[in-house]
Amino acid sequence: MKRFYNFSAGPSMLPESVLAKAADEMLCYETSGQSVMEMSHRSKPFEAIIAGAEALVRQNMAIPDDYHVLFLQGGASLQFHMLPLNFMTINKKADFTLTGTWAQKAAEEAKRLGTANIVGSSKDKKWSYLPEITGADPEADYFHICYNNTIEGTQYHSIPEVGAVPLIGDISSGVLSAPLDVTRFAVLYAGAQKNLGPAGVTLVIIRKDMMERIPAGLPAMLSYKTHVDGGSMYNTPPCYAIYIFKLVQEWIRDMGGAEVIYRQNQEKARLLYDFLDSSSLFFSPVEKSVRSLMNVPFLTTEKDADKAEALNKKFVKESEAAGLVNLAGHRSVGGMRASIYNAMPLEGVQALVAFMKEFEARCA
Ligand code: PMP
Repeated sequence: MKRFYNFSAGPSMLPESVLAKAADEMLCYETSGQSVMEMSHRSKPFEAIIAGAEALVRQNMAIPDDYHVLFLQGGASLQFHMLPLNFMTINKKADFTLTGTWAQKAAEEAKRLGTANIVGSSKDKKWSYLPEITGADPEADYFHICYNNTIEGTQYHSIPEVGAVPLIGDISSGVLSAPLDVTRFAVLYAGAQKNLGPAGVTLVIIRKDMMERIPAGLPAMLSYKTHVDGGSMYNTPPCYAIYIFKLVQEWIRDMGGAEVIYRQNQEKARLLYDFLDSSSLFFSPVEKSVRSLMNVPFLTTEKDADKAEALNKKFVKESEAAGLVNLAGHRSVGGMRASIYNAMPLEGVQALVAFMKEFEARCA
């Protein structure tokens, strides 16, 4: 069976060596006599797995000791609610930049619990840029950004300055794609299913002083305090997803860490964007300075809407036949999108560009 180059936005490709190791250990993990899937989360081998996952992600992301690291469930979407519930608790207002679908969802959830001030939006130009941030309301309980906009293909290449207001970042689709200064943030969170592992576990990183803001009496599962006190094991954690998360962290460490991964990501992205910028058929709708290294939406120059739709369909169908899968654009944007997360090899992007050139020669 041949594996395809999978350009899915998530769940997405995992490093092949990680999958091979997991396959090797599927029936029997080390000397435990059992699969990680069958293992009690209170067992010694699993305690070592979750402790290892935490130690490795602390190392790879350079997370200081004054931050908690949690492995939660409910996806990044549950964080949209838990964050205001736990932290929008002093003045009951927070600042949000609207930079796409996920940033909007974070603001909408916060609105249920207080005031979500919109301090910048790129909706006017179909999310193709990032609004300039000129500071935060000093009374805001926090300032929220979506670091990498998975659907729209924009990414903050420098972190906005918001003064003393705690900065919270949704890093679901950009985590460990590049070095990131964790100390600029009060809280970071990421669903695993792009750069960290399979769906089912969400990484949450919380600066310890933020814990003082958490009100008493929250439902246990919705309070970060519960999960900190329980070492991410208040209830049964997603054991297998955490195990794969650990293997992915080992892979990142062995590759040379975030800096090396970043250089590879830059090379992959440059290859694709350079082609898009020189193509007579395809183009990137995103402003150059904020283009994402991870998610690359692209359109064709066809002006007639029906013809453009037909051309997109033809591209997706033919690329699939060539072993390049999941290139259809998000339904809200149309066109195509190539997600080129950490595990996408350079060869995958080279194959995509070669296919696009050949398609262009035939169809432009
Ligand atoms: N934030 C971002 C940036 C995302 O890309 C996604 C999912 N694609 C989410 C949040 C929602 O994540 P989940 O499906 O894990 O709830």
